[in-house]
Amino acid sequence: MNNTTFKYLRPISPVKACELKDKYGESSRFWAGGTDLLLQWKEDVVCLDYCIDLSFIPDLDYIRKDSDAVSIGALTRVASIETSSELNHSLSIIREAAGELATPQIRNTATIGGNICRAAPSADMAPPLLVLDAEMKFVSASGERWVAMDAFFLDLNQTALEENELLAEIKVPIPPVETASCFLKIGRTVIDIAIVNMAARMTMDDRGILTDVRIAFGAVAPTPLRIKAAEEILLGTDVSTIDDTLVGKVSNKVGDEIKPITDVRGTAEYRREISRVLTKRAIENIIQTLQGRLNS
Ligand SMILES: Cc1cc2nc3c(=O)[nH]c(=O)nc-3n(C[C@H](O)[C@H](O)[C@H](O)COP(=O)(O)OP(=O)(O)OC[C@H]3O[C@@H](n4cnc5c(N)ncnc54)[C@H](O)[C@@H]3O)c2cc1C
Repeated sequence: MNNTTFKYLRPISPVKACELKDKYGESSRFWAGGTDLLLQWKEDVVCLDYCIDLSFIPDLDYIRKDSDAVSIGALTRVASIETSSELNHSLSIIREAAGELATPQIRNTATIGGNICRAAPSADMAPPLLVLDAEMKFVSASGERWVAMDAFFLDLNQTALEENELLAEIKVPIPPVETASCFLKIGRTVIDIAIVNMAARMTMDDRGILTDVRIAFGAVAPTPLRIKAAEEILLGTDVSTIDDTLVGKVSNKVGDEIKPITDVRGTAEYRREISRVLTKRAIENIIQTLQGRLNS
């Protein structure tokens, strides 16, 4: 750690926080839970002359449900998400991902906004938010704008946020009733960062035709990403006709589309193979749920 002294700033509103970021630029950082930032600071990956602590800003920590969406404040702790009764039915994959992120101690400190804004390829909250078509509200000193989750991750550790913008809210549309979803994660231990994580979501019409398919993966490319070529194979299919051959085709497409690397957690070959396996498990899980609803 090069700089052991820093200025600690505690803004009282998102706009004030952005004004401070405008003023101090790259020598400043937003601090949410600090579970990622502290490590990056210690390892001199980031410069932290000015620490802009967001955690005292009122009204960035909430989970609110209305008729068509659930809105999650960026400062909401992962532990609050894990236990939220608002995130039910197809949205429960957000809760499941939160429950598999690190340890209870980390979850009590870490925020959903920090997880997304850090933009690690393995971020556990990313695949569920990608398949649920979440939208992100960015705030700056001059106004606000909305960005689709699908356009949020630009490259390794890079997001669509400008230097002087902060993430204020994540809005998740409530999917139609005939939707089923699934979150899966493979790690070396239950508390470890993912070797591979993924989420899938499918919606059918009243005849059982898939009208919406989303498949997203983490830790298999520089950013979390949707595998649109695999989604397209299933789109328009009758759920009662989905067999092993079709599932194999989708799984192989996922294997072809991803660009995994070898690192301390796993080899590229293992990541590719386990991605195929997770795709198969997720599709089988979702189709079983949808077929059950069709027959009931
Ligand atoms: C032991 C350990 C285990 C972990 N295990 C996992 C795991 O299993 N899965 C996983 O996904 N992660 C894991 N992590 C990583 C980390 O805990 C999460 O990414 C966490 O959600 C980060 O949130 P935070 O609030 O602590 O972010 P911070 O560290 O405060 O911030 C992270 C980055 O995001 C920026 N930022 C934060 N909030 C905003 C905002 N609202 N607007 C703009 N920029 C913002 C910060 O400036 C910083 O660059 C682990 C970390 C540790 C230390």
